[in-house]
Amino acid sequence: MLTAPIPAGAVRHAGGCLQPVLLLGRVDHIDGATGELLHRYTTVHEPGGVLPIACKTRRASQCPPCAEVYRADTYQLIRAGLSGGKGIPATVATHPCVFATLTAPSFGPVHARREKNGRIIACHPRRGDPACPDGRPQSCRQRHGRDDALLGEPLCPGCYDHTGSVLFNACAPELWRRFTITLRRSLARQAGLTNKALAAQLRVSYAKVAEYQRRGVVHFHAIIRLDGPSTAPPAWATLELLTAAITQAAGAVHVETPPAPGVPGRILAWGRGHDIRPVSTTGDLSDTKVAAYVAKYATKAAECTGTLDRRITPADQLADLPIREHVRRLIAECIRLSKLPGFGSLRLAAWAHMLGFSGHFSTKSRTYSTTLGALRADRARHQREYAIAAGLWPGPGGDTILVLAHWSFTGRGQPPVSLRPATSSGPGRPERPDLPPGGDARWT
Ligand SMILES: [Zn+2]
Ligand SMILES: [Zn+2]
Ligand SMILES: [Zn+2]
Repeated sequence: MLTAPIPAGAVRHAGGCLQPVLLLGRVDHIDGATGELLHRYTTVHEPGGVLPIACKTRRASQCPPCAEVYRADTYQLIRAGLSGGKGIPATVATHPCVFATLTAPSFGPVHARREKNGRIIACHPRRGDPACPDGRPQSCRQRHGRDDALLGEPLCPGCYDHTGSVLFNACAPELWRRFTITLRRSLARQAGLTNKALAAQLRVSYAKVAEYQRRGVVHFHAIIRLDGPSTAPPAWATLELLTAAITQAAGAVHVETPPAPGVPGRILAWGRGHDIRPVSTTGDLSDTKVAAYVAKYATKAAECTGTLDRRITPADQLADLPIREHVRRLIAECIRLSKLPGFGSLRLAAWAHMLGFSGHFSTKSRTYSTTLGALRADRARHQREYAIAAGLWPGPGGDTILVLAHWSFTGRGQPPVSLRPATSSGPGRPERPDLPPGGDARWT
């Protein structure tokens, strides 16, 4: 059966999407031998005459219903990598595995909510309350509340290293890439093996998610797991070895930025104090806890920093945008640096609203777990099976059935309210399946 003409995922319900893509068109199932039209689906009988397709964004700030689907899929994917399922053997739960957080260094003191032994303590107390060269206090004795507007604000915006902050964000994906390479070398060194010998015996699998701190820099949370060439890693590949290798690699990698007029080249590295904790199905940090945490961050971007949820265009008046003052300075720095020779490849103007970060928010190594695509294909298969069983869609009809689809894009948003009487789309009409099946991959 030829199915290529159907845009994958085109024929499905919008699942409560707030900003669906609206399609106009039809799908014909034709008997290749006789030319007989076996089945026709057309959007004519849909409400408003169009078929709404979910936007499928991962961003909760843009479409909560679609982001919820993405979050649930990410949870399944992450959890399968920790305790098995979805085609991953349950024995992965016995592999050495940690949840590591790699943070950015300091670019100047910011107001922060600090806790010690369950008590909130003073933000930045400094003996003698010193002042900076701008005459601003370098000390803050406040105990900041969770929703305090000061959180993430520099103690002195004049002294804060905005350049370093946006360059770090821009270089963070490269820093991560170098970290993963160095981690393998570090494991080899600790195990007394050559890089090649290590690769034959051990595989490093990971899944990582980026999170913005309120001060406007990204940090990464990563699940890092050791596997063998088939499943179990060799006995010498212990949790201790993995932890030591991560610490070594995170401390060793750096990225050098090119010098530009007025901006000397600098060396960017991770901040100190990497948090590395073992993940297990029984310990403090369980598979479900980690999966829930990663899945939550996979649906976010930079919005928690108070930035704009879209690209900055030349038409924007930066001073008028409804954003935090600290964020305004970081965006302005992205735009300023983008005009300097040497920084072109960082595309800082295009990613100014992300405060310089242009990387992916969630990534994984190929071997970590199943894929989002596989989870979506599973769901689509269930929809198709249901639709066929309910007589709403033709079943597989052999090699001679041709499926011809004609789609056109008509707009974005909620379909116009239909004035058509409800009976015109009643279940008695074979050409209008109530639950059109389809794949779930990106259709664009
Ligand atoms: Zn949506
Ligand atoms: Zn403070
Ligand atoms: Zn200052």
